[in-house]
Amino acid sequence: MKRKLVIATLSLSLAFSTYTVSAETLSSIKEKKEQNRSEQNQTKSELKANKNQQDHTVKQIEDLESSIDKTLSQIGAKKESIKETKASIEKLKKEISVLEKRIKERDELLKERVSSMYESGGAVNYLDVLLGAKDFGDFLDRVFALNVIAEQDKAILEEHKQDKADVEMKKGQVESELTSLNKDLKALEGLNQKLTAQKKQKSSLLAQLEKEEEHLHEHIMALDEKNDLLSAQEAAIKAEIARAKKEEEERKKREAAAKAAAEAAAAKAKAEEAARKRSSNSGSSSPAPTPAPTPAPAPTPVSRDFIFPTQGIITSTFGNRSAGMHYGMDIAQRGSAVPIVAAASGTVSRAYTSSSYGNCVFITHYINGQLYTTIYAHMRTFPAVRSGQTVSQGTFLGYQGNTGASRGQHLHFELHKGPWNASKSNAVDPRPYIQ
Ligand SMILES: [Zn+2]
Repeated sequence: MKRKLVIATLSLSLAFSTYTVSAETLSSIKEKKEQNRSEQNQTKSELKANKNQQDHTVKQIEDLESSIDKTLSQIGAKKESIKETKASIEKLKKEISVLEKRIKERDELLKERVSSMYESGGAVNYLDVLLGAKDFGDFLDRVFALNVIAEQDKAILEEHKQDKADVEMKKGQVESELTSLNKDLKALEGLNQKLTAQKKQKSSLLAQLEKEEEHLHEHIMALDEKNDLLSAQEAAIKAEIARAKKEEEERKKREAAAKAAAEAAAAKAKAEEAARKRSSNSGSSSPAPTPAPTPAPAPTPVSRDFIFPTQGIITSTFGNRSAGMHYGMDIAQRGSAVPIVAAASGTVSRAYTSSSYGNCVFITHYINGQLYTTIYAHMRTFPAVRSGQTVSQGTFLGYQGNTGASRGQHLHFELHKGPWNASKSNAVDPRPYIQ
């Protein structure tokens, strides 16, 4: 009992000290509001830098597209040249086979001629022919005929020589054409690889561009919107702390009542025990002593942990993206009525339609002396709760949607450990805080 009192005192003093911390938080919010203008300027320059980065990415994509076109036309030209080379090789091969056939045939002919010349005694044969002339006229005819035969032989030999040289030359040509074909095929392979790489680079640049746009949109917030949020938050923090204080008092009352009931029960049990002892002293047997009744348990406090605010899969986690910081967690599920609920009890600081967050809700929570802010963005329709409203964990806020700067239906959920500020410096990864 004594220990219980100590714990009660401790938690009371802790509660008071944290209320003081929150008062400091409030003054820091005021400071934040004053800083807003300079932050706004910083945001503007960040947006400009982001815009420049986007322009740069677009330029890179355009450059890449023209290189891809160039590569494609190079591939086309290479393929055409490969086709031509192959046709030329075929033509050469045909010419070679014609030449080789002719050479073979002529070889046969020449062999026959040479052997017949040897058989008939070669040059002696010429003399026989001439000497066999009947008269001078016949002799002249024979000389002429022999000359023609000699000329023909000479021409055949010349042709033969030429054809053989042609075959050698064309074979050489085929060799060099084959070499150039292999070179072209290798070049084509290289070009295809280049094209694949360029296409990959382009798709990654496109993805980057998309993220940059998303990032850009998600963070555009007008100065007025920021100041409205801060003012609404101040009021919500005060209301939430008052609510938490009241809840704490009610809890204490309940605990005191439970304690009194437990004490009364214990006193009653003690009296009964004393009465039993008296009666057992007069009797012979002693019954087993009844254990003291356990005091009624204090009502369990409402769970203060966060719950998943909606159903679906986590499509994007908290943390750095290529284009910058993602301050929340995206949860998405298809369907026209995927409900979004409050992740914990709290006070709605704002429920409105933002150009970037779409239909959204900001809730201030005060849990075990710690201030939190949760944000639910891109709801399908205007939120089902209003600014200033007290909500319990699980209170329906609206449906998953695609309003504001959003690409596809999802819930963008942010958790800030402390109050929300324009620079989102209190944003934390919500996942470890969810049951
Ligand atoms: Zn998001």
